[in-house]
Amino acid sequence: MPPTDTAPGTPPSGLTLDPGVPICQTDLPLDWYQEEFRPYAEEYLALPDRKPETVLPWLDRYVRRAQDHFGDELLLLAHFYMGGEIVKLVERYEGAVADSYALALQAARNPEKKVIVESAVHFMAEAVAILAHEDQSVWITNPKAGCTMEMLAKDFMVYPIADQLIERYGDDLLVVAYMNTSGRLKALAGRTGGAVCTSSNAHLVVDWARAKGRKILFVPDQHLGRNTADRLDMDQSKLVTLPDPQVFAANYTLGDGTIEGGTDALDAAEMILWGSYCGVHTIFQPEMVRWWQERDWRVLVHPESPLEVVRAADGQGSTNYLWTEVMNAPRGAKLVIGTEGHFVRNARNEGAKRGVEIVHLADIPEEGMASAGCGCATMSRNDPPHLAGMLDLLRRGEAPDLNRVLAGDSVDELSGARDRLDGAERAELIGHAKLSLERMIEITERASKGS
Ligand code: SF4
Repeated sequence: MPPTDTAPGTPPSGLTLDPGVPICQTDLPLDWYQEEFRPYAEEYLALPDRKPETVLPWLDRYVRRAQDHFGDELLLLAHFYMGGEIVKLVERYEGAVADSYALALQAARNPEKKVIVESAVHFMAEAVAILAHEDQSVWITNPKAGCTMEMLAKDFMVYPIADQLIERYGDDLLVVAYMNTSGRLKALAGRTGGAVCTSSNAHLVVDWARAKGRKILFVPDQHLGRNTADRLDMDQSKLVTLPDPQVFAANYTLGDGTIEGGTDALDAAEMILWGSYCGVHTIFQPEMVRWWQERDWRVLVHPESPLEVVRAADGQGSTNYLWTEVMNAPRGAKLVIGTEGHFVRNARNEGAKRGVEIVHLADIPEEGMASAGCGCATMSRNDPPHLAGMLDLLRRGEAPDLNRVLAGDSVDELSGARDRLDGAERAELIGHAKLSLERMIEITERASKGS
């Protein structure tokens, strides 16, 4: 069944910390923390254990004080894929846990919130900042938390190729930018008359773009692009996948033989896919899906997985879709989930409380098939000391500028450094990026109302 969860997700409830069960988060080495955050990390690392009974009183000291200080103006956000128990911690402090679509809308839809602190990867915080009101500020607890898929589609990689495509096809080319892109690429989509999409509404956005009769450049995830084309019955021979950005970055021209099929293939293409991918989802293989199905498990996967995996699965959809399936599964159901490892672990815990068995697609107990279910390691760089430190530094008026997220920032995830636009450039970028986000919202909401 295709996913139907196109409406903004509401934060799930029911995620609770189990007493006595350690908060599962890999401790980062001390030198991974910004100088301002080290005192918090030192305190955290010195705690005798990671059990909620130990960590919560320590965390409360900082989070509760910040909540008292900011009152209703403070909003905490986290993504479903956050490692360890950060999602549960954020829920405990009345924050919102959601997928990237619902997160992006949080500032715009909650104008009374003035200080927004996100535990997730950078592009998610930037999407919040693009749609935020002028008097709202957005902060990320760790600026080194980047999405590897987005890191293979930086503006300096995509722009030179997009420029060549625009030169060749002019107004016939339109860009669809997956939410997992920087604001600079969302602005590119806006400038070309395109839109942003998420995994829950990519089929709606690409369908909308097709109806315009224009060639589509889909950035950055080749798998989501291919799966979306498949779902819309697009002729797969009319897809061109651009070279692996890890190997070629942007140092090629359209006609130099780097692109398979060259300019003839591009001319005939209905959709051109940027070559990026998510390593968390590309470990999945169709044999894994069949292994579980032969044992009467129902397999659900995220569409960032390869096409053959999605075709073999019993259902595919966004994190919101997967979570809803878990929550609605009847007692005795056996579900296999093919997506990020921390999400599956949280789903397994919730399912167990209701008699639903849940396993990770890659956790096959057989030699030669087993593959460690992979978590989003970069997102997990937002850990309890980062949350405590960010809130305490904000309360004291000493938050580092590096943690402030402004639309158009380009981040080097190794150092956390930002290349920041000046005010005029940022205003222009926001205009274009907002347009592409607003088009997505309009397309999605129109579909959910059935018009
Ligand atoms: S799971 Fe993959 S696509 Fe999602 S944020 Fe992590 S690296 Fe990016």
